[in-house]
Amino acid sequence: MNDSFPQGTAWIDGKFVKLSEAKISILDWGFLRSDATYDVVHVWKNNFFQLDKHIDRFFESTKKLRMPCQITRNELKIILAKCVKNSGFENAYVEMIQTRGVSPNFDRDPRKATPNVMAFAVPFGWILKPKDFEIGLDVYLTDIKRIPASSIDPTIKNYHWMDLVTGMFKAYEKGHHTALLVDEHNNITEGPGFNIFCVDETGIITPDTGVLEGITRQTVFNLAIELEINISKKPISAENLKKSKELFATSTAGGIMPITKISGDIIGLGNVGNITRQIHKLYWQKHSDSNWITPINNILK
Ligand SMILES: *Cc1c(COP(=O)(O)O)cnc(C)c1O
Repeated sequence: MNDSFPQGTAWIDGKFVKLSEAKISILDWGFLRSDATYDVVHVWKNNFFQLDKHIDRFFESTKKLRMPCQITRNELKIILAKCVKNSGFENAYVEMIQTRGVSPNFDRDPRKATPNVMAFAVPFGWILKPKDFEIGLDVYLTDIKRIPASSIDPTIKNYHWMDLVTGMFKAYEKGHHTALLVDEHNNITEGPGFNIFCVDETGIITPDTGVLEGITRQTVFNLAIELEINISKKPISAENLKKSKELFATSTAGGIMPITKISGDIIGLGNVGNITRQIHKLYWQKHSDSNWITPINNILK
């Protein structure tokens, strides 16, 4: 088969298969219309991190798309755990997906389709590798507008990524690590798969609307409260972004990631800020706290 596939196991059509063998129909609405939802949880040292929160968001997303997931929470946990166990990973990125599925005879009515649930595990991936933590990310601030919430509910984790992918191309062409998109008022929204936070004199701020409500974004609120740091949700202009003392991005793939440059210009002192460091440290401490993790072996016993 194709050796460019990462190692991993998928669950599709009710069976566990090698990742390279997991395929869907060309007529699936998920493929033809991006009509799908998904979620990504990570495994660190054989423990899922905040698994129930990811499953809650996934179930909510399937309901908002009028295709409530027909698999129970426990069944889904076992499927995800087996994807990781069969792959033999200690650290993994685990994705669950539900597509609209295929309609009989290519019927144009989405209600006729039978939804399709699938999942896979691949090795844990970083947006910013730990060795590059002190360097931080250089994020290109684009003028691309994130799809507005009035068009697509951003709280449903979705594959409408053409705006984000266009941003990635622009960022890469100019030599930056990744991109940031704006809203119709040119306020900051988010980037390809991550939320953004800035630190000013008042504390930590993240955009209030027009973004996916990341599980890691919510985690930052919990960690900031524990650290007694002020945190709030409100609009962030490009100007506020550039004069921040610190900036960081958050995502399941990579956790808390310092941003030290915007479009090549230095933010703050150009190094990883103190608040970013505190949040990052506590985030990784929670990876061995039994209130935050679920051991794979507990699911499978
Ligand atoms: C998944 C995702 C994020 C980050 O959410 P987490 O739950 O923290 O991984 C941010 N923005 C978009 C568009 C995403 O798809």
